[in-house]
Amino acid sequence: MTQLDEKLEPVLDEVARRNPGEPEFLQAVREVLESLGRVIAKRPEYADDALIERICEPERQIIFRVPWIDDKGRVCINRGFRVQFNSALGPYKGGIRFHPSVNVGIIKFLGFEQTFKNALTGLPIGGGKGGSDFDPKGRSDAEVMRFCQSFMTELSRHIGVYTDVPAGDIGVGGREIGYMFGQYKRLRNSYEAGVLTGKGLSYGGSRARTEATGYGNTYFVQSMLATQDQSFDGKRVVVSGSGNVAIYTMEKVGMLGGTVVACSDSNGYVLDENGIDLDLVKEIKEVRRERIAEYARIKGTGTHYIAGGTVWDVPCDIAMPSATQNELTGKDARKLVRNGVMAVGEGANMPSTPDAIHIFQQAGVMFAPGKAANAGGVATSALEMQQNASRDSWTFEQTEQRLATIMRNIHDTCAETAEEYGAPGDYVLGANIAGFVCVAEAMEALGVI
Ligand code: GLU
Repeated sequence: MTQLDEKLEPVLDEVARRNPGEPEFLQAVREVLESLGRVIAKRPEYADDALIERICEPERQIIFRVPWIDDKGRVCINRGFRVQFNSALGPYKGGIRFHPSVNVGIIKFLGFEQTFKNALTGLPIGGGKGGSDFDPKGRSDAEVMRFCQSFMTELSRHIGVYTDVPAGDIGVGGREIGYMFGQYKRLRNSYEAGVLTGKGLSYGGSRARTEATGYGNTYFVQSMLATQDQSFDGKRVVVSGSGNVAIYTMEKVGMLGGTVVACSDSNGYVLDENGIDLDLVKEIKEVRRERIAEYARIKGTGTHYIAGGTVWDVPCDIAMPSATQNELTGKDARKLVRNGVMAVGEGANMPSTPDAIHIFQQAGVMFAPGKAANAGGVATSALEMQQNASRDSWTFEQTEQRLATIMRNIHDTCAETAEEYGAPGDYVLGANIAGFVCVAEAMEALGVI
């Protein structure tokens, strides 16, 4: 693990003291602080006015009860969260996650990451994140609707076009955003399209938003590969997950000539040496909302489903973790390196453990951290806000073009920053420093608030 600058040790100690029982939040903070030693050596003024301490403390944290009634008429209770982390660059912006693992520490780590990610897009958006420990798995549409309406009844007090603009994340897709937008509109008696992003095309959504995170990660890795005269063409790729990010990563990798041979869900993974049949994955996951085990059952011979196994056992040239935090461990990284992996692009938020990142970087594997590589989703959300504000609707080509340019710029910014700070090729350092400097400049200008 990288050494922490001695000036930053007390900052991390204080974050640890103040946020007990939140290991993911601490992990995310530690990684950024490890990169900042080089910044304060060059620009000591960034350590003034407790700026780094302030950046680690969310501006506001909201925790609320979400009561709702299931199909059997029973009253259920979940916990709702919105962490409004940093608004120096614009209204808080970031998704909502519905998953039983959600707690305040998870939402804080995501909000912290989001702040730097959003800064890297170069667009005027602050950082925030929200969610609930509600588990949508196995719930009827009517139950999901009642939950979303109750969740939004409280959340609506805290968000707004100029205040905080939520979107989707794990467990929150088009269906959930629709129900939440409907309830918000009803409560406010006002059509404020820009209050949520990831909306359907029939009511103010942006073309290419659904595809944006997966496409964006693929573009980022494409730029990274190009620095070593490489491309996706002919490469064997493994993608973890089979949700929105994974699906559109697989789609773009295929367009660029790569072959995705495996994907997964939390129960196991499927291996298809002929290349994963994406239409079938979309049908299983987006329409039927079933488990990925169905894939092998439907396809039959030539495909394998490995229950409980880790997808990182599958040899590949390029790995694209697109499921969830800490899904790729040191052990997995060692296996991937032994199997000859050349590049890793993180589609999920913080999917690789610190150990895994260290192993990749030591082995000379090109490594694209999530806060840079998966920024295409939120960047396209900001484009959706632009379209809503101007009451306009862009074509798919126009929107995807903007996304591609943004991803190229993020790549170049991270690469140039790493170079400038004496660590060429270290995209983790580049992303952390470039994101930090952007937020820090604005915070300095705004005074102690
Ligand atoms: N949840 C996504 C992320 O982690 C997207 C957020 C958004 O579009 O606001 O960046």
